Amino acid sequence: MKKQAVVLFSGGLDSTTALSWALAKGYKCLAVSFDYGQRHSRENAAARAIARRLGVKLYEIKLAFPWFASCSLVNKKLTLPDVKLARIGRKGDIPSTYVPGRNLVFASVGFSLADAVGADAIVLGPNVVDYSGYPDCRPEFYRALEKAAAFGTRRGAGGRKIKILTPLIALSKAGIAKLGARLNAPLELTWSCYNGGKKPCGHCDSCKLRAKGFADAGLADPAL
Ligand code: ZN
Repeated sequence: MKKQAVVLFSGGLDSTTALSWALAKGYKCLAVSFDYGQRHSRENAAARAIARRLGVKLYEIKLAFPWFASCSLVNKKLTLPDVKLARIGRKGDIPSTYVPGRNLVFASVGFSLADAVGADAIVLGPNVVDYSGYPDCRPEFYRALEKAAAFGTRRGAGGRKIKILTPLIALSKAGIAKLGARLNAPLELTWSCYNGGKKPCGHCDSCKLRAKGFADAGLADPAL
């Protein structure tokens, strides 16, 4: 039987590259995207288009946690940070775009689906090199989570633990752009901007990181 993986998927550059990586590794993939009240629905539309293109089943989960309103990625009344690129990733600097425990919540949903369908792994696209200071993007967090899930799932109890695969964890944004291009991931359909609209804003942290990644990789961003 073909190995199966649940891919946590936002429709952005990173998770689209992670999804293409899992498909290239031979996994039959199920994708999960989350509507957690983001400032716009643009990235969920991107997730749908990419899943359709890749022929992957997409589960769209709505998670309206009222306390996510402390995050500028969700609350339109808060201003998105426009920090200098040099400051992004500085240790101890957790930006207002941090959604409390987001990857902990998302990974738990991923484990739930994986346990329900008997999948071998969950796949996520965090990376530490260019990470924006989010504590839930660190590798030690994922190793600990994999251990916890081995105790808390049917598969784990049966001695077949569900793995967490984070193929981008040690890559820079440039490395991710290169990997995505090499895997023929549909990067032209991806959306990374924290703002909505027809075109990426070019000013937010995410736009800046992405632009620097493609520039460092010597590639044109196919989404522009
Ligand atoms: Zn932007």
